Amino acid sequence: MSNGRAVGVELGIEDHSLISSPVFHPPSFSPCRRKGLADHPTTALNAMTTAKPVATRPSVPTPSALTLILTNLKDSLVYLTVLPLFFLVYSTPTFATFYALLVQTFSRQTIFLQITFLLTFASYWIHCLLLSLPDLHHLPQWITKRKIQPAKTPSLEWYAKAAKSVLFNQIVVSAAWGAVFYKLAGWRGMQCDAPLPSVAIMVRDFLVFVVVEEIGFYYGHRLLHHSAIYKYVHKMHHEFTAPVAIAAIYCHPVEHILSNLLPLFAGPLLMRSHLVTFWLWSVIAQFNAVNSHCGYRIPFLPSPLQHDYHHQVFNANFGVLGWLDRMHGTQGGFDAWECEYREREKRAVEGRKD
Ligand SMILES: [Zn+2]
Ligand SMILES: [Zn+2]
Repeated sequence: MSNGRAVGVELGIEDHSLISSPVFHPPSFSPCRRKGLADHPTTALNAMTTAKPVATRPSVPTPSALTLILTNLKDSLVYLTVLPLFFLVYSTPTFATFYALLVQTFSRQTIFLQITFLLTFASYWIHCLLLSLPDLHHLPQWITKRKIQPAKTPSLEWYAKAAKSVLFNQIVVSAAWGAVFYKLAGWRGMQCDAPLPSVAIMVRDFLVFVVVEEIGFYYGHRLLHHSAIYKYVHKMHHEFTAPVAIAAIYCHPVEHILSNLLPLFAGPLLMRSHLVTFWLWSVIAQFNAVNSHCGYRIPFLPSPLQHDYHHQVFNANFGVLGWLDRMHGTQGGFDAWECEYREREKRAVEGRKD
């Protein structure tokens, strides 16, 4: 990795082995460090291109609950339109007939393992390939203007590096995990046979999944940031200080199991959900993970700002939705930075130089 620093600077990837001393510790993050979280060795480049110390910013009022709800609804418009459409198709006799045919054609093991793999693998790569267009081909312009960290340009070389890790996690780690999941699903009584669950049951299960995922991901992520563990496992994922879509599961295999797979599978196992419910959940959760690493705030898609900020400053925003970050006060200076970012994005979209 002799040229890692040069390429890393281009993309905003840190080669931690080449960093001698940390230069940036936002004052507001000191509570995280007091709780035993690892310090983030940050380059001078990051000090210039990522969040500034909160103390230097104008104070920003904490957004009200109503503002947060309205912002989240706007950012979730894709789910609020696509999901009802999906449920409409799902409720038709044609869909039920198609699923009955699937169950008659394939064994339970094939449906649980191979079809689940194909579904998640294809949806991940289609989404990543689409989101690679602004990075690698600067298209379309209405998205490129919304680059969250415009000073950091990803290269094809780092895309290739990320792809190798992602493929290993998807094919080797997830295949091994799939065998464990299959046993657990049998033990918990998860079904894949017809009839399909009702929309009401799916929505009920989803509400539990969201809570379980938030708890599992937040505390697992906090654990991965502990100074005794960080450099062995989670440091790899944080090589991307300016994340790109494909880097959503660019991580150590231990992290992939602890932080990505366990919180994703725990809810469906707990609720003994139908496999179809799990399929929809895993595609949505994966879409969310890829989107939160894409590096662009695309209108009406879930905002990636929270997690992008985590990659910038390292010791803030550990959760998915941010509920537990607000509860534990681990947002760092996110609200102030988000306010600044939205102003900057507005100027970029309108083509203003002021
Ligand atoms: Zn990440
Ligand atoms: Zn992290």
